[in-house]
Amino acid sequence: MKNINNSDYLLSDLTQLNGVGKKTMNILRKKKVNNIFDLLWKLPKSHTDRSLTIKIEDLQVGKIQTIKIIPIKYQFPRIRNLPKKVICQDETGKIDCVFFNSNEGYIRKILPLNEEITVSGKVNLFRDKYQITNPTYVSKDSSLIESKHNKYSLTEGITEKIYNKIIAQILKNLPKLKEWHSKEILSLFDNETWNDAIIKLHDPNNIGNFRAKFYERLAYDEILASFLVNSEIRKKIKKIKKDKKKFDLKNSDKVIKKLNFKLTNDQKKTLIEINNDLTSKSKMFRLLQGDVGSGKTIVSLISALNVVNSGYQVALMAPTEILARQHFVLAKKIFPTQINLALLSSKSENKIKKEIIDNLKTKKIDMVFGTHAIFQKKITFSNLGFIIIDEQHKFGVRQRKLLSDKGGKNCDVLLMSATPIPRTLTMSIYGDMDISIIREKPNNRKEVKTYSKLESKIEDVINFVKKEIYEGNQIFWVCPLIEVSKKLDHESAVKKFEYLNKIFPNKVALLHGKIENDEKEKILNKFLEKKFLILVSTTIIEVGIDFPNANVIIIENSNKFGLSQLHQLRGRVGRGNKQASCILMFKSNLTENAKKRINILKNSNDGFDISEEDMKLRGFGDILGFKQSGLKNFKLADPVHNENLFKLAETEIKNIENNNLDIDKYKTLLKLYDQADIINDIV
Ligand code: ADP
Ligand code: MG
Repeated sequence: MKNINNSDYLLSDLTQLNGVGKKTMNILRKKKVNNIFDLLWKLPKSHTDRSLTIKIEDLQVGKIQTIKIIPIKYQFPRIRNLPKKVICQDETGKIDCVFFNSNEGYIRKILPLNEEITVSGKVNLFRDKYQITNPTYVSKDSSLIESKHNKYSLTEGITEKIYNKIIAQILKNLPKLKEWHSKEILSLFDNETWNDAIIKLHDPNNIGNFRAKFYERLAYDEILASFLVNSEIRKKIKKIKKDKKKFDLKNSDKVIKKLNFKLTNDQKKTLIEINNDLTSKSKMFRLLQGDVGSGKTIVSLISALNVVNSGYQVALMAPTEILARQHFVLAKKIFPTQINLALLSSKSENKIKKEIIDNLKTKKIDMVFGTHAIFQKKITFSNLGFIIIDEQHKFGVRQRKLLSDKGGKNCDVLLMSATPIPRTLTMSIYGDMDISIIREKPNNRKEVKTYSKLESKIEDVINFVKKEIYEGNQIFWVCPLIEVSKKLDHESAVKKFEYLNKIFPNKVALLHGKIENDEKEKILNKFLEKKFLILVSTTIIEVGIDFPNANVIIIENSNKFGLSQLHQLRGRVGRGNKQASCILMFKSNLTENAKKRINILKNSNDGFDISEEDMKLRGFGDILGFKQSGLKNFKLADPVHNENLFKLAETEIKNIENNNLDIDKYKTLLKLYDQADIINDIV
C-alpha cells in the first residue's frame, strides 16, 4: 500500500500506477500529463450507460449495449488466425460473440454453454446477424459490470477501459489532504472536501455540472493558488530594502508648469503613488496601467526626473527604437538642460555607442533610452536607480522578476501598459506588482467617432479620405490580417497600396511585415513628418508611437480583430484637437454577434470596459495575446462564470496581506497547483 497521507502520491510519476507502462506514460506526457495530479483535470466528456440490459430484438447497431444471453454453440475454426465465434441467444433472438486472438479455453470459461451471462459491447451487424466483437465485459454476475463508464477525450492510443481503470485507481487511492480553507470559506462550498470534490468531478452523473458546489470549490482552489503565488512574489520583492531616494519636488513642478497642458487628476494621483514608492525604503515594483493616449509617458518622465535629481541614473526601455527615440526627444524638450540624456540606438556609429557605454559607467549620462539593448551584458551603470519599461505587456511574471533583479536592490521598477484587462484578471496577471491606474483621459480628447462600412461601399470611404486629406489630416489604412499566410497579408497590403496610390499619387506609404526594421522606421518617420498622408500597413502600427496629426484609421476585415485590439488601433488616432474617426470595414453583412461587438466599440471609449465586454463575448483565452505572457490557463475556473470566486479570492489575499497572515496552511495547495514552484525558483 502506498503512503497515501500526503500530496506526494499526487505528484508522483504515472508509472506508479498499475497498468501504466512506459508506452502509456509517453502517450500521456505528450498531452502534458506528467503526474497523477495532472491527470485529474482531464475531465470525462460523456459516458456510456451499461446498466440497462435489453432484449436482442431491441438492439441498436453501432451502440454499446448490455444484454443477458445464453451461449448455445461454439464455432472454433481449425485455422489459427480466423476469429472464434460463440452463438448465443435470448428468448427474442440470436447474436454472435466474436473473438480475435483469444484462446479457446478462455472463451469456454467466460461463456459456458447453457448458462445466463451478461455481455456488454458494441453491437454490429454482419451478414444480417447481430455480433459483438471482443465484448468489453462478460460476466455471470451482471452487477459486476461497471454500469457507468466515462468517456475521456484523450484516449488516443489508450483504450477507454484502461483509462477508466487508471482513473478509478487514482480516485481510490486519493490521499486525504488536510483542509487548507477556513471553516467560513469551506461552508460557502457546502463543506465539500478536496477529496470528495475530485471524486464528484469524475462521477459521470456530474458531467457539465459547473454550478455545483464541489466544482466551485475546486475552481476556487485554483484561483486562490494562482493569486497566492503572485502575492508571495510581491511580498518578497517588497521585503527588499533600498536606500530612500531624496529629491525636491520643486524641480519637477517647474517642468510640469512649463508643459502645454495640465496634468489630469489621475496623472497626478499616479505620480504621487510612484513618488511615495521612490522615497520609501522598499523597492518599487509597480505597473502603470492606462488606456492608449491616457498620458503615461509624461508620468514616467517626471518620475525619472525626480530619480535623476536624487542622484541616480535612469534607464527607459521601449519595445521599438522609434518609440525610444520619441520618448528621448520629449525628455530633451522638457528636462532642464544640465541633465544628460542619451539614446542608445543600434544604428548609431560604434564610436558613439562606445562613448555612451563609457559615460553610463562613469555617470556622465543621467538617463538612457533604448530598446532591450540597454540591458546587454556589456552595459554597466554607475548607479542605476530606476528602470522604466514601456509597453511590454507580454512579459510574464518570470521575465518581470528577472528585470527587477537586474538593477540591484536600489533600483526601482516601473512597467507601463496600455492594455487594459478585465478586473477579474488583474491579480492573476499582475498580482506580483503594485498597480497605478490612469482611467481618466486628457480632457482635450474628443471621442473617436466609430463607423462600420461594408467593403462594397469603399467609394464612400475614398470620398471621406479625400475630404480629410483636403483638410490636412493623415490616415492609417490597416489591411486585413489573413491568418493563414504572411504572404497573403503582404499581397493584400501591396494591392491596397497600388489601388490607393492611383487615387492619391505620391501620398501613400506602405508598411508590411517583410520590411526591415531600419526601413520601417524611415517610413514611419516620413509619415510623422507628413511626407506621406496615407499609411497602408498590415502589421499593427507600433503601439505607443504618437502621431498627433493622424485623424482617421480605416480597419479592413475588422471582424478578424478582438475588441481590445480594435480599441487599441482606434487609439492611434485622435491625439490632436480635431475630430477623429475610425472606420471598421466588413466583407459581408454582420452577424448578430458581430453587431453586438461593434456596438460595444461604438458606445464605449474606455479600454477597461471594452476588455470586460470582450471577455464576456470571447472568453478570456486570448485577450490580446496574454496567453504568451505566462498567464496560467485555468483548468476549471472561468473569469466570466466564476467572477464571484475571483472576488472572493481577492478578498482573501488582501486579508492575508493586510494582516500578515501565515500562509503555511496553503503549503499543500501551492505545492500541487504551482508545480513549477515559481516562488522558490526565482525569488
Ligand atoms: P500613452 O498613455 O498611450 O503612452 P502618451 O503618453 O503617449 O499616451 O500621451 C499621448 C498624448 O497625450 C501625447 O501627445 C501627450 O503629450 C498628450 N498628453 C499627455 N497628458 C496630457 C494631458 N494631461 N492633457 C493633454 N494632453 C496630454
Ligand atoms: Mg505610451
